[in-house]
Amino acid sequence: MAETVAILGLGTMGSGMAANLQKAGFSLNVYNRTAAKAQSLVDAGAWLAATPAEAAKGASVVISMLADDAASREIWLGEKGALEAAGNGAVLIESSTVSPAWIAELADAAERHGVGFIDAPVTGSRAQAESGQLTFLVGGSEATLTAATPVLKAMGKEIVHLGPVGSGAKLKLINNFLCGVQVASLAEGLAWIERSGLDPEKAISFLKTAAPGSPLLGAISARMSAHNYTVNFVLKLMGKDLAYAEAEAARCNVDLTTARASRGLFEAAAKAGFGEQDMSSVIEPLRNK
Ligand code: NAP
Repeated sequence: MAETVAILGLGTMGSGMAANLQKAGFSLNVYNRTAAKAQSLVDAGAWLAATPAEAAKGASVVISMLADDAASREIWLGEKGALEAAGNGAVLIESSTVSPAWIAELADAAERHGVGFIDAPVTGSRAQAESGQLTFLVGGSEATLTAATPVLKAMGKEIVHLGPVGSGAKLKLINNFLCGVQVASLAEGLAWIERSGLDPEKAISFLKTAAPGSPLLGAISARMSAHNYTVNFVLKLMGKDLAYAEAEAARCNVDLTTARASRGLFEAAAKAGFGEQDMSSVIEPLRNK
């Protein structure tokens, strides 16, 4: 009989990850607050649970891919939460981008319950989740990671084991801090280019291969230029990531002034109605000024 894996959270990322688990032959239990998002997975044979606890019951691996700390807390530890229902020998994987402080609390709860736990947030976006090309940044013991590896391999191309529990969450916030600041500065740079008299196409084409060029600059400048805000990474989540990064860096006595300034741009865009659009729409309030 196929090993059962549960996945909690079927948003942009979780739905692609779940589909790849199915393709890899795992028997899949799924849970999502908005049940309708599970339909295509159910059509392909997944079992839709009514609660996180039901989804976790009988699964050897339980993965969560949720918006933030509050959602993760609710799904793991809330009434009908997944943790209490996880069986002996199960491995729990938190793949959402959440704070290291919450990871520490969740890891303690998992230990008390007698189940394995790793934090394994991801890099890559919608396309990589759909094509099974994510990178997992892992914190946890070697033994727990080994038990989780076949499941992670079904969804990703690379597993980076960084150290003890919390290590993945920490590096993920540093990664997204650098991304968030670059996207915010690109929004200001492009708004400036558009008003400068320069040919935007020529200017962007130069910047893409010049010193500031990066895969992120290439992808986001194309979406900003095309005003194409189809969601790959929903804007409101970047404000969340920068806030978590600021809090975590402050614990190390580092003041992320550039994160704070960038968060201001994402929050202004959310206030202007772009919170549910792609993060590249952060440029829109600057264009409309
Ligand atoms: P998303 O599309 O917004 O999905 C969020 C998920 O969280 C949905 O399943 C949503 O349920 C659930 N959720 C939100 N609040 C909840 C609550 N209070 N209780 C229960 N469930 C709740 O986000 P995503 O893009 O898939 O991202 C998921 C995680 O991966 C986030 O932590 C994000 O920062 C991180 N991440 C995203 C990307 C990316 O490019 N998109 C890349 C790397 C990492 P509903 O469907 O009911 O709303």
